[in-house]
Order: sequence, then C-alpha cells, then structure tokens
Amino acid sequence: MGKYNVQKKQVLDCIMALVEQGFVQGTGGNVSLLLQGGSAVAVTPSQREYATMTPDDICVVDLDLRPLEEAGAAPSMETAMHLAIYRSRPDAGAIVHTHQIFASVFSLINEPIPALFDEVAGAIGPKVEIVPYALSGSKELVDNVVSKLGNRANCYILQNHGALSLGRDLDHARRNAELLEKAAQVYYYALTTGRAVSVLPQEVQDLMSLIMADRQDEEIKRRR
Ligand code: 13P
Ligand code: ZN
Repeated sequence: MGKYNVQKKQVLDCIMALVEQGFVQGTGGNVSLLLQGGSAVAVTPSQREYATMTPDDICVVDLDLRPLEEAGAAPSMETAMHLAIYRSRPDAGAIVHTHQIFASVFSLINEPIPALFDEVAGAIGPKVEIVPYALSGSKELVDNVVSKLGNRANCYILQNHGALSLGRDLDHARRNAELLEKAAQVYYYALTTGRAVSVLPQEVQDLMSLIMADRQDEEIKRRR
C-alpha cells in the first residue's frame, strides 16, 4: 500500500464525479489535492482516458514539480498552475479545473459573473473574474491566474478555456464548481430575456466577502 493511496483514490473519485456531471469532456480538465504538510500534491495525469484511469495513474509531485513517486504518466500540463495557486492561496487545499459548459459561455463573451445569489456569493465570492487568455499549460497562463487570486474568490473563469474552482478540500472545490455552474446557467438564461438583471445589494456582497475571508483565515490558522 503506497503512502498516498487514499488521497490518490480521492482525486480519482473527484475527477470521475466531474466527468459524470459533464464538467470535463474527453481528456480535458484536471484535479489536485494538497497533501498533508503542504509540501506535495496528488494530481491527475496528462491526457489520459478517464474511463480506464486507476489510483496508480494519479501523480504525486513536490511543489517544484519533482515526481515523488514512480508514475505511469506525466502529471497534468496545468500542474504548475495548481502549484502556483497553492503558493498564493494558503486557504486552498484542493483545486478543480473544468471545461464546464455554462461557465465556458462567459469565458467566450469575456464577461465576469456578478453576485446573483447569496448562497453562491458566500461560497465562491461576489464576483467571478475572467483570467485573460493564455495557452493551456503556459507560464503566461500561470501568471495570469496568479494575478487574479488576490480577491480571495474560490472560482475564476479562464478566457476561451474553462473554469477554476478552489476549496479547502476536494468536496468543497467540486461543490464550488457546481455553484459556479448554477450561477452561470441562470445568469445566461436571465440575459437571454433581454431584461435588466438584478444583482445582490453592495452591502450583502461586502458581507459575503467578509464571511468568506473569515472562513479562509480560520482554515489557514487550522493548518499552522
Ligand atoms: P491535462 O490532461 O494535461 O490535465 O490537460 C487538460 C486541460 O484541461 C488543459 O487545460
Ligand atoms: Zn483545460
């Protein structure tokens, strides 16, 4: 039994759930989990068929992207992006990168999703920002993502690409991707009516930001 078998199975279960939800297609998307102590991550392999993926295919790398275990496949091409997020956001314990459909609509029209529901804004942040386009797997994409993380949101949309959802653990990150998709879908339908879309009052948005920041600070403290 390998040292990280339990966590590798959790990463596999998470990506399989995202496949079932239609949040990733083909070999797209990737998932990572920060391992105990925060000095390594378990991450999905690059360009591998999900149907035949096993826990042994999940890669374990340190924060400098050095493999810590013999793996059958290379780690996701977006691993450097995941590692940069963990470095910048000490509240994050898991990250899911998806190509979910309705969030992807906003990645094409290059429009952020505003604060629409308190249930969503309190979990993913009052605004889902667009990260400017850069090629998948590029250093430029990593830099563009990092430049947006200061707002402490849990979801971001990657222009002409997909979405990123952060959480304290895998369940939390995946739930945030679901909340993003709900907001994107409803916002899309609301926009198609041609009517004005009402957003949450500013004081509620500020309250949601405060609640989220408190929760994240608690999580950071808990890990020290
Ligand atoms: P990987 O298969 O390397 O994880 O790439 C998928 C993807 O979504 C790239 O952005
Ligand atoms: Zn992608």
